[in-house]
Amino acid sequence: MSAPTGSTPRRVGVVGAGTMGSGIARVAADAGHPVCIYDSVPGAAAGAVTHPDIRAVTRLAHLHDCEIVIEAVVEDLQVKRDLFAELSTVVAPSCVLATNTSALSPTAIAAGLPGPERFVGMHFFNPPERMQLVEVVAAAQTAPEVVGTVRELAVAWGKKPVTASATPGFIVNRIARPFYGEALRLLEEQVADAATVDAILTEAGGFRLGPFALMDLIGHDVNQAVTRSVWMAFGYDPRYAPSSLQQELVDAGRLGRKTGRGVFRYEDRRPLVPPPVTEPPREPPAFLSARPPELETLLDRCSVPIEPAEGDRVELPSGAVLVRTDGTPAGVLAARLTQPVIVLDRAFDDQTTTRIAIARSDDCSETQLAEAVGLLQSGGLAVSLVEDTPGLVVARTVAMLVNQAADALLQAVASSPDIDLAMVLGTGYPLGPLAWGERYGAGLVLAVLDNLWSWYHDPRYRATPLLRRWALSGELL
Ligand code: NAD
Repeated sequence: MSAPTGSTPRRVGVVGAGTMGSGIARVAADAGHPVCIYDSVPGAAAGAVTHPDIRAVTRLAHLHDCEIVIEAVVEDLQVKRDLFAELSTVVAPSCVLATNTSALSPTAIAAGLPGPERFVGMHFFNPPERMQLVEVVAAAQTAPEVVGTVRELAVAWGKKPVTASATPGFIVNRIARPFYGEALRLLEEQVADAATVDAILTEAGGFRLGPFALMDLIGHDVNQAVTRSVWMAFGYDPRYAPSSLQQELVDAGRLGRKTGRGVFRYEDRRPLVPPPVTEPPREPPAFLSARPPELETLLDRCSVPIEPAEGDRVELPSGAVLVRTDGTPAGVLAARLTQPVIVLDRAFDDQTTTRIAIARSDDCSETQLAEAVGLLQSGGLAVSLVEDTPGLVVARTVAMLVNQAADALLQAVASSPDIDLAMVLGTGYPLGPLAWGERYGAGLVLAVLDNLWSWYHDPRYRATPLLRRWALSGELL
């Protein structure tokens, strides 16, 4: 049995002519490859593709001269194993065998196959024609040259490949989990409503879509299934624990856009999202003391005179203190300072953000709150008051994503450039999570994580050892 030679395959076979298979076939054909597509449902392959360079075949045996076969059939380990066992008897030993699985282990699919070194994961994103990212997943058995071959092929197809180890969720589906999970927790704890969380994460956080709008788009059944599979594959690690709130949505058939109702309601597939909670207009204070570096850019936008004074926090004339979040809840700070405290969330860009979240300690009066709101409004900011919680909304979400990315790096899931590239291309985040960690500073990310941990005592919030080392040395190793 000869292993693949490493030369770029030309004749492409695709098995499964559903959403992904038909798209992958079109990508290969558009790049000039002769493509055969097979589906076990008679007529499905012919019905799915109209591309002139794609041949729909009626038997798996018709793929015998393909140099790569990409499988995109139903997500079921036994079905995929049986399929590859049969394929191995059909194609030449040098043919690369690739799976588009999202959640199964390529190592488990390859187990028992003859010549498993030519087996690899080639994980496209939906829709394959539009999404540039391809995760090339090395199973334990995969030969390094096969990974190289598939990467080259992806580049020739106009894609941006990243290499991932065959760990649960690979890169994107693993690291992105807290984007959904923390939003669901914030809603469960009534820190803010869904529309407000989404508005804070898009307007202040820089995310293209809020987590609730995104889960409604993906479908709560699909989103929850990915969370569940990653959670189970990691031995029920609380980091990935599914949300009972999301389970309720699934049980109620509120799956999102496709059923007309998820977290939000939809009419003609258009979302009917209520306005985010936003403070009414308030008068700014007459003056401020101090202009700490963490608030400089925001305060420079505000039209309030600042009295020259030293200090790492802003004292409002009515006696409350304004600080930027490092994850310490406002109530904890207030007890420490014996003064009412208002904590400000982070923003992706303080110069351009249109919204900011704030939280207050329980002893903060309406007058003190109004002063802080008026100050921020004088800088053109919409202000969303949320319940007092560590890291509010943006800092909490970003810190959790950075921690996930650092943990994936620690476990050699992928290189740091590949992690950041995968997250930007696969999710549309404005910045890769490791670059985001550099921007925040690992010390701040760790402080937010440790504050979450001491507030909840939930191992979900444990910082990865790599983040601790990063914070100590100041450099990502
Ligand atoms: P789909 O249900 O749209 O299509 C699956 C197709 O496979 C169907 O046409 C079905 O008839 C066919 N099929 C089932 N068993 C078969 C067999 N034994 N032999 C030949 N054909 C068979 O599914 P999909 O959404 O295209 O997903 C396919 C794979 O891609 C899954 O492994 C999924 O996890 C993965 N994936 C899906 C997405 C996505 O967003 N849909 C994204 C990335 C990866």
